[in-house]
Amino acid sequence: MKVTDHITNAKGKTLFSFEIVPPVKGKNIQELYNNIDPLMEFNPPFIDVTTSREETVYVKKEGLLDKKTTRMRPGTVGICASIQHKYNVDTVPHVICGGFTKEETEYMLVDCHYLGIENVMALRGDARSEQKYFEPTHGGHSYAIELVEQIQNLNKGKYLHETVEAEHSSEFCIGVAGYPEKHLESPSLQSDLKRLKEKVDAGADYVVTQMFFDNKKYFEFVEAARNLGINVPIIPGIKPIAVKRHLQLLPQVFRIDLPQDLIEAVDQCATNKDVRAVGIEWAIQQSKELKAAGVPVLHYYSMGKSDNIKAIAEALF
Ligand code: FAD
Repeated sequence: MKVTDHITNAKGKTLFSFEIVPPVKGKNIQELYNNIDPLMEFNPPFIDVTTSREETVYVKKEGLLDKKTTRMRPGTVGICASIQHKYNVDTVPHVICGGFTKEETEYMLVDCHYLGIENVMALRGDARSEQKYFEPTHGGHSYAIELVEQIQNLNKGKYLHETVEAEHSSEFCIGVAGYPEKHLESPSLQSDLKRLKEKVDAGADYVVTQMFFDNKKYFEFVEAARNLGINVPIIPGIKPIAVKRHLQLLPQVFRIDLPQDLIEAVDQCATNKDVRAVGIEWAIQQSKELKAAGVPVLHYYSMGKSDNIKAIAEALF
């Protein structure tokens, strides 16, 4: 079922969902299941599975270092299919521009359609670690909006190089990213919101936000988006702080602000167990306020171990 249908059917009740990252190549899927299992009692109507960019590795060859490109966490579509099959829940594979040609994206979408996957998140992807700015892949897309357009075309039976009867086409429901504190490359929040509006006008059905730690930022973002005529559901993305290093890492990587109270509470922690507890409590308070405000879904970023997401869900669902 489509994410938007799940929201409609919930009739105003806030739903619980989460996002997982595929395991590193060579690891067993059981590890992933072990982290999903404890969250299934909260009835997520859908689970997102991220797609990672390719990375550069240096392989020793005849005394020299040979530069190669590899993908450390492949398997997004396969994981989505196995989760749907095992848990009877909808999955949302993330489709990214970076590292994929338009043809490769088309094949991925065709696979999703055959596998009964009805939702996709359309994203640009970040710059590769050795790049300062995002550089489009040769033959690929430059911005997420182009991906939204490709998916919408596919929904109408328009493939890249052929047009077929729309009767048997996909009907993907499309999610896109939104940034309550603006995307790091955008000159202003208003410019970024206009780009978001373009994605929605191109056919995006819902928005999932970047993590934020101050609900005021989300509420103001939603208000500004509505004022611009963005009327699709805007799902807040929540990430519980899990380690002390997040205090530096999250603002640096995502250009988001952390509230002073949260910084001080984390700073006072003696162990990472204490930090995890602070992160859980902060996310519970954030989630309670968002739920009371009637957000359609509370979507949690679960980067590995899910014990913290379970603790938050227990307090809310
Ligand atoms: P876009 O919407 O293309 O925007 C990128 C930047 O370009 C913005 O600054 C925007 O304002 C600007 N822009 C847009 N259109 C134009 C235009 N026509 N001309 C000029 N400027 C323009 N990354 C991954 O690699 N894998 C994932 O699975 C993944 N999942 C994510 C899930 C969520 C919910 C979020 C919020 C992010 C996720 N990301 C993921 C990160 C995302 O790929 C990065 O934030 C990326 O830098 C931007 O992606 P976007 O889809 O928002 O890009």
